[in-house]
Amino acid sequence: MDLYEYQAKQLFEAHQVPTTPGDVASTPDAAHEIARKIGTQVVVKAQVKTGGRGKAGGVKLAENPDDAKEKATAILGMDIKGHTVHRVLIAEASDIAEEYYVSFLLDRTNRTFLAMASVEGGVEIEEVAVNNPDALAMIRVDALEGVDEKKAREIAVAAKFDPAIIDQVVGILLKLWDVFVKEDATLVEVNPLVLTPGGKVLALDGKVTLDDSASFRHVSHADMIDRESADPIELRAAEFDLNYVKLQGEVGIIGNGAGLVMSTLDVVAYAGEEFGGVLPANFLDIGGGASAEVMANGLDIILNDPDVESVFVNVFGGITSCDAVANGILQALEMLEAKGATLTKPIVARIDGNNAIEGRAILTAANHPLIEMVETMDDAARRAAQLAAARKAGK
Ligand code: GDP
Ligand code: MN
Repeated sequence: MDLYEYQAKQLFEAHQVPTTPGDVASTPDAAHEIARKIGTQVVVKAQVKTGGRGKAGGVKLAENPDDAKEKATAILGMDIKGHTVHRVLIAEASDIAEEYYVSFLLDRTNRTFLAMASVEGGVEIEEVAVNNPDALAMIRVDALEGVDEKKAREIAVAAKFDPAIIDQVVGILLKLWDVFVKEDATLVEVNPLVLTPGGKVLALDGKVTLDDSASFRHVSHADMIDRESADPIELRAAEFDLNYVKLQGEVGIIGNGAGLVMSTLDVVAYAGEEFGGVLPANFLDIGGGASAEVMANGLDIILNDPDVESVFVNVFGGITSCDAVANGILQALEMLEAKGATLTKPIVARIDGNNAIEGRAILTAANHPLIEMVETMDDAARRAAQLAAARKAGK
């Protein structure tokens, strides 16, 4: 889960990373009130989960509360790279002598953690990496050793921080490492880390990605989930622990294995061209152990999606054999009907792999009015697209 800047800064504060005080507002009046309480010049910052807000006009200094209200009015509702601004952070403005960059991240390619730091911050770090690679220090961090004072100093020295502030930077790196480890983050980035004219080093921006696989260890992180911008169907799917992503089309997709589901999306989109541009309605990977319950939860989510006109269940039996999957589909429909659902959307099933013959025999014997079996993936995709187009046309 990616956090908003204000949430990242809350974690910074919790771990004593120096930053500027502030609070978040969703109305111009609330912005006025926060600016009044801060009492100094403030910065009004769009809270969207994308970078480059400054360039897009989403970061503005304000002299006083009235000015903050005016700037908030301008920024709230703005569109930044496809993200609508629902909230602004009002923070004490800081004078800036220098802008730096520091981050810790999970480097999947090299199977390690990585520290990156540069005294050329403020700009996009990808630009520094391309135009001035020597200015970006990249130091591997061993997962077992972590970052101690010696390692933090190695990072700060490699990035060529001025000796006059190096102790401050080392202290901040140690605290950011605390954020990274103790909050189970996969990214902690500060751009810019600034030096004030008074000689103090502060985090003026913050970007944190939390590792969702560790969420069970952090009850408080649940409060950071952004319910208002999240898709309601995705939220329900998350409650079921399903690997679900809402898309724009009409054919609901259930498959096992991310690779199979991805290729199913492609095949459906391709087949849909013939029927006026029918597209997949979602990504849903129910994983290896496709139990009846997981299948029921998946079908529940998909059949309740108002955009869905037909469903394509594409399963390749592996560890879970096809007869178990076939029984799972039938039991899932029974479970949904027992809960009072009226099922009308056609389901195209393609099951192959381990025990395919037995699985198909089960579905044939059941003769369920909504389930149609199609042998190959291409034909099944075409049929699902055709059924979706027909139902849509009938509306
Ligand atoms: P981003 O563009 O989304 O990365 O947003 P940032 O929070 O990094 O802000 C962009 C730029 O605005 C920074 O690089 C600073 O130059 C400037 N900025 C942000 N906060 C302040 C502040 O408190 N005072 C001043 N003078 N400039 C700021
Ligand atoms: Mn930034």
